[in-house]
Amino acid sequence: MSHTGSSGGQPGPQRTTDRATALSEPTRAYAELVAGNRRFVDGAPRHPNQDAGHRAAVADGQHPFAVIVGCSDSRLAAEIIFDRGLGDLFVVRTAGHTAGPEVLGSVEYAVTVLGTPLVVVLGHDSCGAVQAARESAATGTAPSGHLRAVVDAVLPSLRRATSEGVDDIDGIVDIHIAQTVETLLGQSPVLADEVARGRCAVVGVSYRLAAGAVRTVAAVPAGFATLEPSASTESTEPAAPATV
Ligand SMILES: [Zn+2]
Repeated sequence: MSHTGSSGGQPGPQRTTDRATALSEPTRAYAELVAGNRRFVDGAPRHPNQDAGHRAAVADGQHPFAVIVGCSDSRLAAEIIFDRGLGDLFVVRTAGHTAGPEVLGSVEYAVTVLGTPLVVVLGHDSCGAVQAARESAATGTAPSGHLRAVVDAVLPSLRRATSEGVDDIDGIVDIHIAQTVETLLGQSPVLADEVARGRCAVVGVSYRLAAGAVRTVAAVPAGFATLEPSASTESTEPAAPATV
């Protein structure tokens, strides 16, 4: 009934150099997330893999089919918005989905040890971390305490947005999502190698808080995730400014 139910979520049996064949695992994983998000948007979630039987079944080991590198925003709970359950998603969350060493290590663990075939960067409209970085850049002031580390990690995306002439908050969010995808691959040779071998893909998606739908912002390898993420998504154009 689920991706993990039929395959265990492991790309292990598929150790092949045929890129098209190898990418079937990431493609299936992404399709599973897209389908779950559509159920959530439509108000018809199935809440799979959340029963006591499944809890017992996965107690001996996990084979999540996707890593979610998401913002910590309380409205962005991965298992809810993708309508999944226990053992399905390996979730790493920080404010503004920043990708420091512990995040990179967590992603590498999932991809190499658990064999997870898909990494999804999950951002969202009106992101507070991006707004904080924007205000910091505008005023020339840095926040106190460790919040500064969050702002500092987002600032490169701010500079990139400025250079591209993007100044609306949701356009900046899209750029930050794409930047996070590039950071994961640029800072983790381990992940980049898995992608180069066709065993893993990295996708950046943006979630709309009110509508509940995700849309693809970035994908590596290029051309991956050409699926329409959600039937109710307004646009698949990258960096499209919010109209509402
Ligand atoms: Zn956020």
